[in-house]
Amino acid sequence: MPTASERMLRTYAELTVKVGLNLQPHQRLLIIGPVANGGCALEAAPLVRHITAAAYDAGARLVETLWGDEALLGARLTHAPKDSFDEFSAWLPDALVQHVEAGHAVLSIYANDPDQLKDYPPDLVAAVQQATARRVRPFREHISRNQTNWGVVAAAAASWAARVFPDLAPPQQMAALWGAIERLCRLDQPDPIAAWESHLAALAARTDQLNAKQYTALRYTGPGTALTIGLPDGHLWVGGRSTSASGIRFAPNLPTEEVFTMPHKDRVDGTVRSTKPLSYSGTLIEGFSLTFAEGRVIDVQAEKGEAVLRRLVTMDGGAARLGELALVPHNSPVAQTGVLFYNTLFDENAASHVALGAAYKFTLRGGEAMSDDDFERAGGNHSATHVDFMIGSPALDVDGVLADGSVEPVMRRGDWV
Ligand code: ZN
Ligand code: ZN
Repeated sequence: MPTASERMLRTYAELTVKVGLNLQPHQRLLIIGPVANGGCALEAAPLVRHITAAAYDAGARLVETLWGDEALLGARLTHAPKDSFDEFSAWLPDALVQHVEAGHAVLSIYANDPDQLKDYPPDLVAAVQQATARRVRPFREHISRNQTNWGVVAAAAASWAARVFPDLAPPQQMAALWGAIERLCRLDQPDPIAAWESHLAALAARTDQLNAKQYTALRYTGPGTALTIGLPDGHLWVGGRSTSASGIRFAPNLPTEEVFTMPHKDRVDGTVRSTKPLSYSGTLIEGFSLTFAEGRVIDVQAEKGEAVLRRLVTMDGGAARLGELALVPHNSPVAQTGVLFYNTLFDENAASHVALGAAYKFTLRGGEAMSDDDFERAGGNHSATHVDFMIGSPALDVDGVLADGSVEPVMRRGDWV
């Protein structure tokens, strides 16, 4: 991989291990890819090697990588028997759960083609994704509870770079994507670790301020958007760092610019319009609006990809409700690039967003110790899916409703007040 310098990869690896995972000397590390693709892409190997070395330097006992190759999923969708797409090995979900329950760290690396599945029959793709989502759900729930320290980072891949920078010649595409990752992960700063410490401290100050307010609802107003999102009692704003069950402070996403919490699953009303395309299930869904009543999606409109969006919101009972709302200023570094990355890790840091599907238990005070039923009673949404879409823009205003019914501005024209 000639476009990413060894020095940059070494810095990225060190940042991932020390600040991202905060890997502890007694831990093992398992490196995976986006779960639906079955493992870490082969193109990420140079970064994986540096991360492995950095993890051993930090005292890791054992570092393992589960490799995946998305071409193999393509072969399955083309050649496997049509009635076989609910097949799933027991060992994979079991291995993930065992690793996490033993208190070891997990890192997912994205180096994939956002369009990989677009030319395959949507019903077969949906069958594979649903079977995967069902089987890895116990693992996802552990992650959602921060059972252990975990993280997500990215490495450039040729197919992804071609999608993000279609106007560049192929040799420049990889360099441009690595350059963006380098800048957004602050790897070009004189001391990237110090830069992250001060950025994470600023995010912590923002969440402290919002937690002190305990708004009962947020009101969003913008072009095509008039939406009220109720916030449950005890909702927690989270950003930057999280704490694992064993007390390890880790920063799961690099980069990260958002602060987020959970909506009350039954108290979302009005219409929200997306401000960026959503890449889901290998399809680009564009120019879409969702209308909610008492928390549930009651109308779906999209200029492109409406059928896929309709399938998403009917995937299970919780897929038609919101599980996350996040505030990101419109001038965040990711927004400033003006680039659409077709990947949530980056795109969710470019704009305020909400997510259809599961809520994170750690966004409710005491939520991680709650049973599923108690969490739902408190307003937490339950689903096998969690899909973010962007609603922020320089034209978005957000108001906070206080317990006494008074209203105050939180964001104006896409920026913090
Ligand atoms: Zn988010
Ligand atoms: Zn999300």
